[in-house]
Amino acid sequence: MDESNCRVYACVNQKGGVAKTVTSANLGIGLARRGHNVLIVDLDSQANQTVSLGWRQPDELPVTIATQLLKVVEKKPFDPMAGILRHAESVHLMPSSIELSGLEMRMVNAMSREFVLRSYLKGVKPHYDAIVLDCPPTLGMMTINALAAADRVIVPVQPEYLSVIGMTQLFDTVALVKSEINPGLQIEGVLITLANMRTNLARNTLDIIHKAYGGSVRIFPNPIPYATKVKEASAEGGGTRWPTHRGKHSRCQENRALSLTCSPRRPSATRISRSG
Ligand code: ADP
Ligand code: MG
Repeated sequence: MDESNCRVYACVNQKGGVAKTVTSANLGIGLARRGHNVLIVDLDSQANQTVSLGWRQPDELPVTIATQLLKVVEKKPFDPMAGILRHAESVHLMPSSIELSGLEMRMVNAMSREFVLRSYLKGVKPHYDAIVLDCPPTLGMMTINALAAADRVIVPVQPEYLSVIGMTQLFDTVALVKSEINPGLQIEGVLITLANMRTNLARNTLDIIHKAYGGSVRIFPNPIPYATKVKEASAEGGGTRWPTHRGKHSRCQENRALSLTCSPRRPSATRISRSG
């Protein structure tokens, strides 16, 4: 497969708790269920994605994204596919661990520090149709690396007043990265998450978001409702099976909605091994 067939999505918002991690998993699993080869990369040192996909002791994993990025920084040879975990939902995961926070400090002084992740992804892209980057809740070096490596940005936003304030700073950062280091970068859309549309606050905030940004950025039409089931699933530490039920608020519904909107060109003809 040609490298250009792989599309890289970054789930970005400097605010925590807006469902970046859940959205990344939903998008990744949704695309995998539609036949795409997908890699999710956990870029948060808190390793929530790694834990919620079932690897509960991330600090015990022998190879994580921190290991691989350190190899890039130190210009040491490495196998880009090493450490990639295979989830039962046919999605692959490059896990994270607390080590990533130390690495971020080291990257600040590295040559071409914005391109460390991009260099790493170059080695894995030929194996995938889509890569989903689950970003940490900051606009720090790791998120800049994600924006430098991505083709498309998905911005999960909770319809609350404080979330709206941060959006301008986020869009400014995306615009800066686009103009300075990654001209191909595009915002795929803003995904309204954790929405309780019965409240006036949510409806008013959504209105503000549409008025302020709707002219320049796509806002995905269906807000993801707040669903206790999702909260409970995360609290349980997730697992190897992702919910498949078709209830009104199911993650499955979210998977379909988002993955139909965001689609890499086509599933690759040859699927890579799912086992082991
Ligand atoms: P982030 O990665 O932006 O910090 P998470 O994806 O970890 O956010 O989500 C934050 C919390 O909100 C988690 O506890 C998660 O389970 C919960 N959550 C995410 N989406 C939903 C939803 N649709 N309904 C209810 N809770 C949700
Ligand atoms: Mg997260």
